[in-house]
Amino acid sequence: MNNLTVQTNTAKTTGWNCKVRLLVLYTPAAFAAEPNMASRINLAYQQVKSGLYNSKIFTTDFDLVLAGSQQLNFVEGTINNSISIDISLLENNTTAQALRSQYAADIVILLTKGNYGTITGIATDATNLIIDAAHAYAIVQTDWATTDGYTFAHEFGHICGGRHQNDPAPGTAHAKIFQINQFLWKKERRTIISASSAGLPSVILYYSNPNINYKGAATGDINYSNNANQLRTMGCTLASYQGGNEPFSVSIAGNGSVCPCNMAYYSAIISGPPTPYYNFEWAISNDGISYSIVGTSVGYYFKQSCSFQNSPTHLRLKVTDPIGQVRYDFLPILNDTCSISYGYPCNTHGVYFGPLFRKNNESTEDLIPSIIYPNPANDELSIHFYAESNNQVKFTFINTLGEECKTFIPNNIIEGINTEKISTINLPQGVYTIQIAIGKRVENRKLVILK
Ligand SMILES: [Zn+2]
Repeated sequence: MNNLTVQTNTAKTTGWNCKVRLLVLYTPAAFAAEPNMASRINLAYQQVKSGLYNSKIFTTDFDLVLAGSQQLNFVEGTINNSISIDISLLENNTTAQALRSQYAADIVILLTKGNYGTITGIATDATNLIIDAAHAYAIVQTDWATTDGYTFAHEFGHICGGRHQNDPAPGTAHAKIFQINQFLWKKERRTIISASSAGLPSVILYYSNPNINYKGAATGDINYSNNANQLRTMGCTLASYQGGNEPFSVSIAGNGSVCPCNMAYYSAIISGPPTPYYNFEWAISNDGISYSIVGTSVGYYFKQSCSFQNSPTHLRLKVTDPIGQVRYDFLPILNDTCSISYGYPCNTHGVYFGPLFRKNNESTEDLIPSIIYPNPANDELSIHFYAESNNQVKFTFINTLGEECKTFIPNNIIEGINTEKISTINLPQGVYTIQIAIGKRVENRKLVILK
């Protein structure tokens, strides 16, 4: 079924906390030299994702997303052609900082054409790995970014606190070079953050992890080489560098025109993190300027005025996320051109038949009013109603004397909107009440039968 759960007032999830946003910038020189920059950036990003996945660093702990990519007007190697100086210049570049803020990016990697001699990439400080928000920058030479050395994924690993296999620093965040258990001429392999060594063994797209094997050999060891553990524990820290928030967008689902006197259901659609807790505010206005608050749930029932209005009613949805970021959507609701008699649903515009959004554990009562069509009816009518798949449903036709004239029990109830056609050929002309029982809720609706 197409119900999407939008939670309110529930705890933040780990995945939301640990969404790490990566911004990739490139110099004009790099752009001129790279025929397909977009593909290169996407491949680099995918390689990092693969490395994380291969090493069992899952999105629940470290959910990397590509926040965006853009050119940065940065001239490479202006001082002694030094990549160490350039990384410092990048970290202090106010345009780069502004872009990082604009994209809400936690990590920034600059692709260069690369004229730094044999050095193809650098992250944070060249000699001391500094792991904080101010040093979450790297430089990677574009044409080496995604080749079999995986320079992009390598420098990314440094930003996360990963170290070379021969880094003398204490701790367990080192890469690993190891022998695979196969009868091959070149048996040595190294994990992503390893430094080049004599003989250049092949790099595999894995961060070191003592619990993950590659061709029968462990890719890490518990006391020294466990990049996976380092990266996993850094996810939430990195995500907090720019506030830990994935920008979200909001839209109103529902019809832009409603018959006079009819009800319509509108719901908030959030595009963004899957399970944050949002606050909702619905407001309506006659002039589109001054609004009155009419609801604070994920959905809102709008009742159209019974007299025809030439100008629309303006519906405004305001959604606030846990740290106070606000998004709006607006929908003008017009009068539908239809009968203005109460209770005569002229067409399906009076009710929202699209995907239904509701809170966890919220009762389905009153979510969507049932509709009887046509009304007045002659020999046949349809009832549209919302139900859960396990609901018992029963329709009872009661005349003005209070007598039950007809009962109808539909089969094959599905979760969502059901439509049931009912013959009224044997019912005499008159006014009836249809008692619509769906699960525990009962609606009483007036029905007129004309013969
Ligand atoms: Zn390195």
